[in-house]
Amino acid sequence: MKLSTKLFIIILEITIIPLLIVGYVFYFNIKQQITQNVFSKLDAIAQIQKDRIQENIDDKINLLDLSVSKLGLLALLDSYNNNPTKDLQKNLEDDITQTNASSDVIEQVSIANPAGVIVASTEPGLTGSNISKEDYFKKGIKQNDVSFIFRDAATGKPARYLVGPLVLRGKTIGIIILNTDTTALTSLVNDYTGLGSTGETLLAKKDVNGDALFLTPIRFDKNAALTRVVSKNETNVPSVHAVNGEEKMFDNAVDYRGVKVFASTRYIPSIGWGIVVKIDQQEALAPLAKEQILNLLIFFSVILLIIIISYSISYSITNPIKKLASLTKKVAEGDLSQSVKIVSKDEVGVLSKSFNDMIIAVKKSRESIDKKVAEQTKDIQEKQKFLEDQQKATLNVLEDIEEEKTKTSAFLASLGEGVIATDVSANVIFMNKSAEDMLGWKLSDVMGKSLYSFLSVVDPKGKKLSEEERPFHSAIREGKKISVSIQNDYYCIKRDGGVFPIAITAAPVLVGKKIIGAIDVFRDVTNEKQIDKAKTEFVSLASHQLRTPATAVKWYSEMLLDPKMGKLTKKQKKYMNEVYHGNERMIKLVDNLLNISRMELGKITVKSEPIEAQNIFGGVIDEQKSEVLRRKQKLIVDQPKETIKLMADPFLLRMILQNFLSNSVKYTQDGGEIICSIKKEGEKITFFVRDNGFGIPKDEQKRIFERFYRATNSLSLDKEGTGLGLYIVRQMAYVMGGKTWFESDPGKQTTFYLELPLRSVSR
Ligand code: ADP
Repeated sequence: MKLSTKLFIIILEITIIPLLIVGYVFYFNIKQQITQNVFSKLDAIAQIQKDRIQENIDDKINLLDLSVSKLGLLALLDSYNNNPTKDLQKNLEDDITQTNASSDVIEQVSIANPAGVIVASTEPGLTGSNISKEDYFKKGIKQNDVSFIFRDAATGKPARYLVGPLVLRGKTIGIIILNTDTTALTSLVNDYTGLGSTGETLLAKKDVNGDALFLTPIRFDKNAALTRVVSKNETNVPSVHAVNGEEKMFDNAVDYRGVKVFASTRYIPSIGWGIVVKIDQQEALAPLAKEQILNLLIFFSVILLIIIISYSISYSITNPIKKLASLTKKVAEGDLSQSVKIVSKDEVGVLSKSFNDMIIAVKKSRESIDKKVAEQTKDIQEKQKFLEDQQKATLNVLEDIEEEKTKTSAFLASLGEGVIATDVSANVIFMNKSAEDMLGWKLSDVMGKSLYSFLSVVDPKGKKLSEEERPFHSAIREGKKISVSIQNDYYCIKRDGGVFPIAITAAPVLVGKKIIGAIDVFRDVTNEKQIDKAKTEFVSLASHQLRTPATAVKWYSEMLLDPKMGKLTKKQKKYMNEVYHGNERMIKLVDNLLNISRMELGKITVKSEPIEAQNIFGGVIDEQKSEVLRRKQKLIVDQPKETIKLMADPFLLRMILQNFLSNSVKYTQDGGEIICSIKKEGEKITFFVRDNGFGIPKDEQKRIFERFYRATNSLSLDKEGTGLGLYIVRQMAYVMGGKTWFESDPGKQTTFYLELPLRSVSR
């Protein structure tokens, strides 16, 4: 809905509703007032009419009283009753003729005897007729009555009988009937003074049925007297109430015609007549109707005025807003040449001024934006040029890269090592020629396939390595570079099922810190394996050959050092001792070399015998006790009391523990502390030897199990050794199905561990 229409409706609503309320209250008040006036007038007229009718009745009673008390008439009638002679009847007729002439209202006079027979009448034809059955006789023989109005059979007009008993000396000797006209009564009832053109007085009495019977002609029915009746059931007609003795006001009644009237009733109890003074509501309320028309005229004029005012108000408010809106639209479309005429100082005026200010501000900011846009366009153009140059440069670089790529591919192709690259899901994205040749797979066959799906690695016993055990897995999952050397003794299965020994280096491909893939570089180490084997066999042979003369030297030097063989000079003894210890070291070295070559040639057989852990460890400790004593070291044995039984090779276990303990004794200063301990957890047993000796420098720890490796501190401390002990330990632990490791905090504490399954499984 438009704003102007809304405003228009709102103004109309707030003006017309109160106007309607006020109008209604005003109308209601006037109606009340007019009705009150009508009622008081009707009530006053009703009272006047009652008084006048009462007066008429009183006149009639007086007239009757006079007529019944005439002594002459009484005497004549008495005589006549006793002796009904013609003369006496003539005298009676004369007397009543006199009475008739004495009053204007009496039209006829009749006298009847107590038996109801008319004995004399001013109307000669009536004499002799019997009226004993008539109501007026029955009533009039007992008392005076002026209420009998009825239609005269002779004249056909309403007539009124005044009847009363003629009493002489206490005895009823007859009845007098004064026939009077009803003109006076009719004219006073038909007096419409103050009652407009519809108002009137109604006089009625109850008829034999209890209905209201009109006694006089009425305004709208001249023949109503003694003919027109209102049924007693029509309780909304006031006449019915009036004849029942009610005196009250009626504001919602209808008259004998069924027309709505206002009425007031009166009752004359002495003769049972009811009086109604009434006026048509339409006439009574005519001033109200006039007032109403005037009011409506005023109302509609006011409404017209309000409509005009509302329209002009809403127009005056919305028109400037409309203009503003259309200008805003133009401005929104980019036309800034617009401005609003400021015609008023009100809110719309303020808004118009703000609008003009806004246009000025927009113009200014547009100018500055245009300026900025021009500057930025220039800037962008320069940048675009720069980018084009960059693009050219990039294209050149790409060309170089492409060239580089071709070169790299050529390098990779000619590389002796096999190279396989995968994405982070281990799916192959590259494989060089060497790899294709070694494995028998073509890159096109395996492109996009998982590396694990076609390339299997097995241990010397032919057991396939699980994905987790594969070096490639560590590279791709943990981002670690892992090398598997010839010593690890892994084999690769080719496409045709053939097997060759392999050395692998798996490395992650990182972008920043994110792993995006991995590269597997591998080579066939069949030749190296053969050379290694030959070397080992040579070492084995040489060691064997060396063992025999070394043992001979040992025996002979012991014999020479034995005093039983003859005394040696001090110098000879010293040299002989050197020979003996040097030979001892050599025997140890040869033993070690023999052990290693046996291991590498797979000649060691691992036994599985029931042994007691504490027993084996105890034996090793006992062997070292003399050296510990000599070094004044403290040896603590901390083992569980309960014997731990396990299935293992006692010889190999002893060798490992000997190595741990002799190293601790050797690499701990005099007076140091060594702890030997065993721990059992579930199905595993862990032996460990802890000392507070020199320890192993952090940066050398990862190499300590390598063949011939000795830490720099042990070298500088001039400790004897070959660097083979721990190498042998690791191999032996492995073949026994266990593992070994250490923790070392140099100068504080070093611990070597051996963990074995309680039921050793040889590998
Ligand atoms: P070695 O004959 O030299 O003792 P091993 O193989 O037994 O050869 O030990 C290798 C090297 O490990 C040693 O040379 C020494 O540097 C270091 N090492 C072994 N055990 C200990 C230890 N308990 N404390 C400090 N260093 C040790």
